[in-house]
Amino acid sequence: MSEPMTQRPTRIVVDLDALAGNLRAIHAHVGVPVMAILKANAYGHGLVPVARHLQAQGVAQLGVAFLEEGVQLRRAGITVPVLVLGGILGRQVAQLIQHDLEITVSSLDKLRKVEAAAEQLGRKAVIHLKIDTGMERIGVHSYSCAPFIEAALASKWCLLKGIYSHLACADDPHSLLTALQLERFHDACAHIENAGAPMPLRHLANSGGVLHFPETWLDMVRPGILLYGVMPDPAARRSVDVQPALSLLSQAVYFKVVKAGNAVSYGATWAPARDTRIVTVPLGYGDGYPRALSNRGDVLIRGLRHPIVGRVCMDQFMVDLGPDGTAYVEDDVVLIGRQGNAAISVEDVALWAGTIGYEILTRLNERIPREYVGG
Ligand SMILES: *Cc1c(COP(=O)(O)O)cnc(C)c1O
Repeated sequence: MSEPMTQRPTRIVVDLDALAGNLRAIHAHVGVPVMAILKANAYGHGLVPVARHLQAQGVAQLGVAFLEEGVQLRRAGITVPVLVLGGILGRQVAQLIQHDLEITVSSLDKLRKVEAAAEQLGRKAVIHLKIDTGMERIGVHSYSCAPFIEAALASKWCLLKGIYSHLACADDPHSLLTALQLERFHDACAHIENAGAPMPLRHLANSGGVLHFPETWLDMVRPGILLYGVMPDPAARRSVDVQPALSLLSQAVYFKVVKAGNAVSYGATWAPARDTRIVTVPLGYGDGYPRALSNRGDVLIRGLRHPIVGRVCMDQFMVDLGPDGTAYVEDDVVLIGRQGNAAISVEDVALWAGTIGYEILTRLNERIPREYVGG
């Protein structure tokens, strides 16, 4: 028999009610169905629990990056439509079909591979065509997509459910590229109209599109980061009222007084000017907490902001309470979230670490247990 394990004090708490509220707010804002994007462990929030909760909320569709993420959802009993957004290889197609995952078809060659696999299985593949309108990532260029679209329309083994593209600059409300991308996307869709075929679901808007560009909402929107209550960019306009769903919490595991001049942590990069009080927090870059926060950024203890001092280690880092600060071992430490009237957002941490909120969320890894509240 295995011993029951006491969880480490470091944990992620996900507020399912905040997620549900964000889905409702986005849906009310755009007035079209929502494809909730759950790639990279649901932006660090936990793929399966988030999918279960959104399914219970009646979400129209889910989107993931990779085959494996889709399979994980199906194995967990998720039944809503799931689109795999990423580029695919021929050897993955049969599994995509067998697990009832919708496939992004991003070239004529991939269309042929999907047709062949579907025919061999005797089962139609559900596909979304990917058009490149300016991202230059995957997808057929809008200016040369006519043969691709005609082949998809003629396909016996592919059910054409959607056509989509991805916006490169929509997190900037002043982006001029977005209007151009939309125009190119409409040009691509015109090939379907001209062929007299029924129009599949047209989807284009990521979180930036949802926030800033109503003309990109079309038949469905694909928000990721906004669903989790985080803005895609510091310049984004808060046109939808969303709440952050994730908190990152820990507890002080050690308290000590460090004498003036004695340096703290690896590399001796920081030393106090006078005797000060230091607590140690038991998480580090091995959990995905950025080492770039060494000597930058704050945490909350007893409702007050205190600075991270010295280098962030793999499993722990130190916080300066100042000469008069008080804290005790086991005091709660908030790295992301609220405490009393104070709050630290994902956006704050991203700014300190010189990156974007997406990276802060998705790098929080499996070593940190996740807890779910609400729902
Ligand atoms: C990640 C992704 C999204 C969601 O992007 P956000 O900026 O998080 O809203 C939408 N569509 C595609 C194709 C993506 O890869």
